[in-house]
Order: sequence, then C-alpha cells, then structure tokens
Amino acid sequence: MSDFLPFTRPSIDEETIAGVAEVLRSGWITSGPQVKAFEARICEYVGGRPVRAFNSGTCTMEVALRIAGVGPGAEVVTTPLSWVATSNVVLAVGARPVFVDIDRATRNIDLDRIEAAITPATRALLPVDLAGLPVDRDRLYAIAQRHRLRVIEDAAQALGSTWRGRRIGSLGDFVSFSFHPNKNVTTIEGGCLVLNDEREAALAEQYRLQGVVRTGFDGMEVEVAGGKFNLTDVAARVGLGQLAHLETFNARRRELARAYFRALEDRGAGELGLQLPVADFTGTNWHMFQVVLPEERLRVPRAEVMRLLRDAGIGTGVHYPAIHLFALYRRLGWRAGDFPHAEYVGRNILTLPLFPAMRDEDVPRVADALTAILRTSLR
Ligand SMILES: *Cc1c(COP(=O)(O)O)cnc(C)c1O
Repeated sequence: MSDFLPFTRPSIDEETIAGVAEVLRSGWITSGPQVKAFEARICEYVGGRPVRAFNSGTCTMEVALRIAGVGPGAEVVTTPLSWVATSNVVLAVGARPVFVDIDRATRNIDLDRIEAAITPATRALLPVDLAGLPVDRDRLYAIAQRHRLRVIEDAAQALGSTWRGRRIGSLGDFVSFSFHPNKNVTTIEGGCLVLNDEREAALAEQYRLQGVVRTGFDGMEVEVAGGKFNLTDVAARVGLGQLAHLETFNARRRELARAYFRALEDRGAGELGLQLPVADFTGTNWHMFQVVLPEERLRVPRAEVMRLLRDAGIGTGVHYPAIHLFALYRRLGWRAGDFPHAEYVGRNILTLPLFPAMRDEDVPRVADALTAILRTSLR
C-alpha cells in the first residue's frame, strides 16, 4: 500500500532539518537559545503574553494547576471527551476531576451544564477545544468570574484558532498548547503554557526544572518540588521551523475541510445519518475533521468501518473514547450512562485524514470510500 493515506502526517521542511543539524553541531543541544527564541515567537503570536515552553502539552497543564494552587480537596470541572491527559493531570496534582457532558454539535463541554457542577470545592475550569473548535470564551469566562474560578484552557489542539477574531492564547487565563507530531505544528514532543504575568512565568520555570532558581554567579535555591519538563533546543529548532508555516498550514487545513463538506454532502452524507463537524471557517484551525457514525443505523461497529477504510488505503483515528469509562476512572466511581452524549460520540467519532500535505484528490477518495462503506453497512 504505497499510497496509504494516514489520518495525519507532519510536514517538516529541509530548512528545518538543516537547522536541526546546526543545533546538533553547536555544542548546546538541551534548553538554551533555541528555546528562548521559540518562546519569544509564540509570545509575539499571542499578543505579548508570557510564554514558557515545556516537553509536553500535558506537564504544561499540571504546572498551571500547581501555580493556581489546585491540589488535594479541590475539584476541577472538565470534559469527558478529550485525550486522557486532560483529566490525568487533575489526578496527578491530587485534585478531583468533575466531568460535565458535552454539547452534541460542538463536541466540547456543554457550557449550559457547568454551573450545576460547581461546588464550594471547585477551583478551576479545564475546557478543551476539540479539533481546534473554540469553546465560547465569553460564556466560559463569565462563568469563571461569577464563581471566582481559575481557567486552564486545554488548547492543545487550538494553536491558530481564534475567538471573535482574537487568537486563542492571546486572551483568558492559563492557556496550554501541545506540539505533539499530530498537532498543527510540532516540536516532535513539546508544549507551551501562556501565563498572566512574570511572577507566574517565574514559577512555571521552577516547576519546569526541579524548582531550581539560580542565584548570583555560583548559587542555587530550591523552593518547590519541580519536575523535569524542559524542552530541548533541538526540539525548539523544529518548532521554530514549523511556526514559520503555521498560517499556511492552517489555511490549507481550512481549504481541505471545506472540500470535505462539499464532497460528503454531494455523496449524501446527510441521508446516511453521518454527523459532520460544525462548519466554522473563521475560528477553527481545523486540527481534525471528525465525523460521528450513525450507530443506530449501522449493522457493523466503528472498528469494521475503520478496517474497511484501511483496506481501501485510508487511515483513520479515534479522538477520543469517553474518559470516564476507562478502568481507572470507573474505579474512581464513574460508570456508563453518566455522560450519554460523550459516550455516544466517544463510541462513534471517527477522525478522517487531514493534514497540510494532503492532495486535493484525496478528499473525494475518502468521501467515496466512507459513504460507500456506510451504504453497504446500513440496516
Ligand atoms: C495532545 C493533547 C494533549 C497532550 O499533549 P501532549 O503534548 O501529548 O502531552 C492534551 N490535551 C489534548 C486535548 C490533546 O489533544
């Protein structure tokens, strides 16, 4: 299957590869000048807010929770439809995730249900912009202000998305981005945290590297039990090469997403019961193009649809199963039926191929294969 179409693939240009070789030869390969330059570039991108780079978009959220003082006894309101990192970090700091079901159209946390989940123990809201579709920031921050809560935006997928014309990251409280290879720009592994002020940024640096603060020419002090979360200069150099293409990558993603809507609608996706994403061509960075299969009308499970697509040379993904149904979370007390919308979407969501290097002709090919499979699989 030489022309197998994966669901995603990073685009790394030759200039970046040469730049990485230069860093490798430079004598300084871990956190250094490239990380500083990478942070400066993102800081500029988000309108000058302080930014610190990390080696994942998971530890960024853990550090944000620690800076916010969220720990044992605290509750954090979040979505059950995300990469499990979103709620694992809440457990990691000793706090309790409080899940709120999703909105079926946006697949993001249902803002109408948040306030009912807030208790005197609630300290923070941790929303996710699934597939890069932004959660309503006006309503989110109105709720946060009304209840005096911190917000950690899991914007792992939302670099380049906007809310009312403002870039995600340029507004709000803590904002976490990921640079995993599946994301719109990558550092191989990595992430960054947007913070509110230099005090928080200094704390982020401490939590990032063992709590160490350098003093004078030869001294150091340690005040907090930090981790080992620093990004390398090699990774940051990849990120700098990627950021140069962020807007063109996202424009190409948007173009492909538009083509998917046309191709799927032309082939009767609606009559087949296929649920398409929100057709947002201004705010979303189109991190993913995800459909939800019509479970009640299909004779076969999602896995069979995925297998048939794979046999047709098309890769797909599942982002994501509902978190509260994982064994760990069941042991903590959640069960099937708690969040029916997240469970339905988690069982039936399917990520179709979408990445900047995809060719125009790949879109109708995917739409043909998927709708043909559905047609032969309906009850
Ligand atoms: C990718 C992702 C993360 C975690 O990012 P890593 O860099 O892999 O740690 C967290 N939340 C969401 C929604 C993600 O998509």
